[in-house]
Amino acid sequence: MESNGMELETTVLEAIQMRFRDVFDENFRVNEPLDRYTSARVGGPAEMLVIVNNTTELLTAIELAYAQNVPYIILGGGSNVLVADKGVPGLAILNKAKGVNFRHTGYGVVCTAESGVNLSSLARQCIVKGLGGIEWAVSVPGTVGGAVVGNSGAHGGDMNNTLLAATVWEPGTGLRIYSNEELEYGYRYSILKKEQIEPRPRRVVLSAELELKPEPVEVLVARADGFIAHRKQTQPGGASTGSMFKNPENYYAGYLIEAAGLKGFRIGGAHISEKHANFFVNDQGASAEDIRSLIAEAWNAVREQFGVELDLEVELIGDWGFDGYETK
Ligand SMILES: Cc1cc2nc3c(=O)[nH]c(=O)nc-3n(C[C@H](O)[C@H](O)[C@H](O)COP(=O)(O)OP(=O)(O)OC[C@H]3O[C@@H](n4cnc5c(N)ncnc54)[C@H](O)[C@@H]3O)c2cc1C
Repeated sequence: MESNGMELETTVLEAIQMRFRDVFDENFRVNEPLDRYTSARVGGPAEMLVIVNNTTELLTAIELAYAQNVPYIILGGGSNVLVADKGVPGLAILNKAKGVNFRHTGYGVVCTAESGVNLSSLARQCIVKGLGGIEWAVSVPGTVGGAVVGNSGAHGGDMNNTLLAATVWEPGTGLRIYSNEELEYGYRYSILKKEQIEPRPRRVVLSAELELKPEPVEVLVARADGFIAHRKQTQPGGASTGSMFKNPENYYAGYLIEAAGLKGFRIGGAHISEKHANFFVNDQGASAEDIRSLIAEAWNAVREQFGVELDLEVELIGDWGFDGYETK
């Protein structure tokens, strides 16, 4: 019997799914809801999801997807993404590669962390060992990989100050080590973040080398406690993506949104935080569309009232029915 194009597509998809199931067993899922893997607790299903527990599995998943032309995204902590209600076509790779290694250099210590390591847990681990340099990350959610891509930072520190080099998988080329300089870090920016407005497939961070310096544990603990207290005082709890927009030059995005009168403004199950207007909180079972509508409301109000066009810090991923927002 002759098969038409649709049947062939289904057959190819089934073959791909069978291959992934063979390799990843119960860590491969079809139509897996993604809301549970994101800090905003919204988003539809991934057509396919694979959970990887180390760098070898991460590489296997990417290479399988790349070889079969399956579009893929990496999900770390899901704390800097907004997943569409319609979900994500292709493969989502949930990165739980959590290996950490410390090496004394004579001057200090180099920590090599796999990209799925939780950043705040790593910061705590370093503090307990009396290693300074990453305590700024003590309450920054997400993974090392997400932080390398977005040059995450807080309290005057960031990945740019901490990272020596990253091992990256590149489509078509394979492994390459990027020095700090080659990542071209800027405010919440790297050459990897820039790829968010380019067609996939994207490069994937496998691990990072961080430079740490011995410091007394009690000094590090006191510093970290100060950072945690400051965050509690200034930022809301609950389900959110953290700062929605980047701070434009000479302004704070939160201040502009507040000045536009939008603190407390609600659409559906989400509202703009009363405590910090750059945080959009899902407190009543919001849809991703509720949050996207809040983004549009804030962006338009700030432009109309202050002539400032805000840039998203958060990435919109999946099927939004449009090409997405530009992230500079
Ligand atoms: C309550 C709250 C507070 C926050 N506070 C801060 C803060 O103080 N400072 C700050 O900088 N950020 C903050 N954030 C944002 C977020 O924590 C960071 O951006 C974090 O580094 C994102 O990491 P992630 O693993 O969650 O990335 P994800 O959200 O999973 O992914 C973000 C992007 O990176 C890509 N990515 C993830 N891992 C890899 C990888 N291994 N290789 C290639 N691409 C990858 C994804 O595909 C996606 O494009 C906050 C977020 C929340 C929810």
